[in-house]
Amino acid sequence: MLALINADVEGRRTQVRIGGSRIASVGEPPEAHDRVLDLAGDRLLPGLINAHDHLPLNHLPRLEPAPRYQNVREWIAAVDRRRRVDGPLKAAVAVPMAERLLLGGVKNLLSGVTTVAHHDPLYPDLCEIQYPVRVVRRYGWAHSLYVEGEAKTLESQRRTPADWPWIIHAAEGLDEGAREEFWRLDRLGCLKANTLIVHGVALGGPERRRLSAASAGLIWCPASNLHLFGATAEVAELAREGRVAIGTDSRLTGSRDLLEELHIAAQQVALNPSELESLVTRDAARLLHLPDCGIVAPGARADLLVLPQGVALEGVHRADIRLVMVDGIPLYGDLDVAGSLAGAARWVEVHVDGRVKALEASLAERLRRLASREPGLELAAATGRAA
Ligand SMILES: [Zn+2]
Repeated sequence: MLALINADVEGRRTQVRIGGSRIASVGEPPEAHDRVLDLAGDRLLPGLINAHDHLPLNHLPRLEPAPRYQNVREWIAAVDRRRRVDGPLKAAVAVPMAERLLLGGVKNLLSGVTTVAHHDPLYPDLCEIQYPVRVVRRYGWAHSLYVEGEAKTLESQRRTPADWPWIIHAAEGLDEGAREEFWRLDRLGCLKANTLIVHGVALGGPERRRLSAASAGLIWCPASNLHLFGATAEVAELAREGRVAIGTDSRLTGSRDLLEELHIAAQQVALNPSELESLVTRDAARLLHLPDCGIVAPGARADLLVLPQGVALEGVHRADIRLVMVDGIPLYGDLDVAGSLAGAARWVEVHVDGRVKALEASLAERLRRLASREPGLELAAATGRAA
């Protein structure tokens, strides 16, 4: 087993032992044959959960809105026009799906995300063992009432088992129509305990109280909302009730990654660092019905994130990350941590935002073969191995 000693878990120094893909124990000392990694007070968190992304859309350039929109219908119409006339956008849409999906996974991994709730169909590539992050597989979804219409939306909601999340974009805008969309969903019978509304920018007090009474949840994407509408949802009360998770949305409208989303979230809402962390760990896991994710506890998945000592999550950048592990397999981190977990052959030295880091070798090799690149990630020459 692997024993992580002197780990700071929620402010307490402790030991975490990992057997295969699961956490075996917390607080137990290492045993005789354990491989031991001394974290020397570094923070150990559960891997982060990105509650909303469109994984094939992250290689696209962020589209500048002009002027700010009142609702998402105006935005969708603008994108449709741009797709026909905008050269770089046309070229980006032509990139093969497998390549786009891998880039979406790498965006998330490099920011400490180990689980993503992808919106849209569950493409087979997302379920492959070598996909860099865990993708939620048990979910129902509809794009929005606007795109799907009432009959398809209702059918999607009814088809989704009560113990799976059912996810829909709603109330994405500033006008009365965006707010009314929430009540249309309610009248249709689509506001259930497993319903997760993405965006909810137009929700006022009555709508938030109704959401809460229905035991439903909100997926908050502040960067995308601010970009399109100059405003975002009011989430403080719902967050204190545990009804909010944070998502990035895709880079077409959203932030670079979940860490950047957290910097922006922290500026928008008066929550303390531990409350904010819950929105991308514990609360997100509960809302997405993932009982073994989002916690550091015996039996939970060994999806783990190591950060430098004493830093708050909303102040971290992806190059600061000491280690990301998915299912007990270390994939990204600092050279010293990487080297003590697995032999040099398992790692390739890369640059992330100008800093030297280690990336798991087979993942680096697959990225090297792609025509497109993750911005800020420089893959060294094939001979460059991490020490
Ligand atoms: Zn979305």
